[in-house]
Amino acid sequence: MTKKILVLPGDGIGKEIVAEAVKVINVLKADFGLDAEVVEGVIGGAAYDAEGHPYPEVTQQQARAADAILLGAVGGYEYDDLPRDLRPERGLLGIRADLELFSNLRPAILNAELADASSLKPEVVADLDIMIVRELTGGIYFGEPRGIRNLENGERQGYNTLVYKESEIDRIAHSAFQIAMKRDKRLCSVDKANVLEVMELWHEVVERVGKEYPEVELSHMYVDNAAMQLVKDPKQFDVMVTGNMFGDILSDAAAMLTGSIGMLPSASLDANGKGMYEPIHGSAPDIAGQGLANPLATIMSVGMMLRYSLDQSELAGKVDAAVEAVLKAGLRTQDIYVDGTSKVSTAEMGDAVVKALLAA
Ligand code: NAD
Repeated sequence: MTKKILVLPGDGIGKEIVAEAVKVINVLKADFGLDAEVVEGVIGGAAYDAEGHPYPEVTQQQARAADAILLGAVGGYEYDDLPRDLRPERGLLGIRADLELFSNLRPAILNAELADASSLKPEVVADLDIMIVRELTGGIYFGEPRGIRNLENGERQGYNTLVYKESEIDRIAHSAFQIAMKRDKRLCSVDKANVLEVMELWHEVVERVGKEYPEVELSHMYVDNAAMQLVKDPKQFDVMVTGNMFGDILSDAAAMLTGSIGMLPSASLDANGKGMYEPIHGSAPDIAGQGLANPLATIMSVGMMLRYSLDQSELAGKVDAAVEAVLKAGLRTQDIYVDGTSKVSTAEMGDAVVKALLAA
């Protein structure tokens, strides 16, 4: 049956990198038998400009009808003065919540070709392969009450609320244990149970769910220590599971272990395998429109989409192999460029992946 892929380029470099990923999808359709229909929509600032809302009704309908979604990135300086509810980032939070994409898979894998691009010593990061499972639809980014209020003394006070229900912790824990079962069967749950009651509950529920997965070795770590350990000895981890905000920060730190934020894909899944796939980086307004952005994270997001939502592991393997081939051939966008390699533009990198795919 034809799968529906909704493509949402978003803002800034989102448009450039998604264009390259669509080239890859089109080749998979034309030459590798992928039975998929690609529909394009708007989100973020682009959706605000077109429809007056960062996640408008028209996009909601497209998203609900899709089997999988490929998203670029949202955000831009020109939207900074909009009311909070209309800012591009609200579009992203909105679609995640609307589709109940509660499980965010953020792999940090160091491609051998890029070992020198990491700021850490090659021996600390070589062959790194971590999966961070981040809870995505709860926690402090969604907790109520929230706002900025005026205190009696005339001073303003900002406040947000970190809340997790047992059921939310339960389902992300199951998701993480299931992923650990497919890997090295080691799961580290990251919390801050020493100071936050909500994290005490987190710890307790993860421990309880763990009883259902006796083969998985479960450990717990406070988030400050986890941040240190990620930099000191990242290879000790297999799968990490954590809440929304901690996961946001830790996965970016893990990203830098791999050398570039432009190299990492991600998946956000619902309970039925429907997913949204996107690079972990933002819209990079500092380099937008200059052909400097690295499209590989977005192209690898297509690989994850093939694997987790479209049931096409073989094609996913071909996409990953094509990315490896262009890196092996020495092609680099400026973010991963080192002496002795060849600097290419966003479009040249996309074309090279397509060529490698066809040559395989
Ligand atoms: P960012 O990830 O956009 O950029 C951080 C740095 O990494 C910049 O120097 C940028 O040039 C570089 N970079 C990012 N992606 C790259 C790529 N593919 N190739 C080469 N270099 C790349 O983060 P930021 O600067 O903090 O945020 C910029 C905007 O993006 C903000 O509006 C922010 O809200 C938004 N944002 C969106 C998402 C998302 O859509 N998922 C995530 C994070 C930030």
